[in-house]
Amino acid sequence: MSVTVPENAMIKPVAYLGVDRDTTGHIAVVGNPVTGKILKLGKRAEHVHKKYRNMRKILQKSGKYRKVKRTRKREGNIEKIINHKVSKRIVQEAKHTGMGIKLEHLKGIRKARPGRNFRYSLNSWSFYQLEQMIEYKARLLGIPVVYVDPHNTSRECSRCGLIGNRSGKSFKCRCGHVDHADANASFNIALRPVFEEGTDRLHADRDACKGNTDIPKEATLRTIATLEPPML
Ligand SMILES: [Zn+2]
Repeated sequence: MSVTVPENAMIKPVAYLGVDRDTTGHIAVVGNPVTGKILKLGKRAEHVHKKYRNMRKILQKSGKYRKVKRTRKREGNIEKIINHKVSKRIVQEAKHTGMGIKLEHLKGIRKARPGRNFRYSLNSWSFYQLEQMIEYKARLLGIPVVYVDPHNTSRECSRCGLIGNRSGKSFKCRCGHVDHADANASFNIALRPVFEEGTDRLHADRDACKGNTDIPKEATLRTIATLEPPML
């Protein structure tokens, strides 16, 4: 890709949007900790994935390996289109709100096969692709993209920092906080300190900022917006 658009000067964001990619049914769930707004993006991808997986099972049984290959390619193309739309929407949201973007630092996402840790088994290449697209689109607008430690982002309470009770799509904490599990995770990501490789600062920082993780009351009055790629 060759792009001649000049890179804007980096914006100094007041806060960050948290992007959770390991969600219970969407490509990404985006949380704005300032307004409490949640965006759930790319739901259809799961259906696409299921459809092609079933198709491949049937083709494999009847020994049609060349067709199996072709379905992989087709699925990859569709995933790419979805990732383009999702990344575009995330970057747009950051631009409109004047915020930066925080993602989890997922180690080895290119190699790792989706196992138990990925509740939604999109292949890790797709996570990586989305990450690259967000970085690229954000850079053109001067929006910073930073990474945080992924440890317990889906288990910690975004209000008080304790480990809460997560079951399926719901999250409950002893402090009384109840939330959609993916929304809670995206707020945790948004509020975490930036990951710095090779330092021990991470955990100390996380504990130090726990007192700081309060989400404003307005956060409970949140808007839920969903983006479905219209052409799929
Ligand atoms: Zn709590």
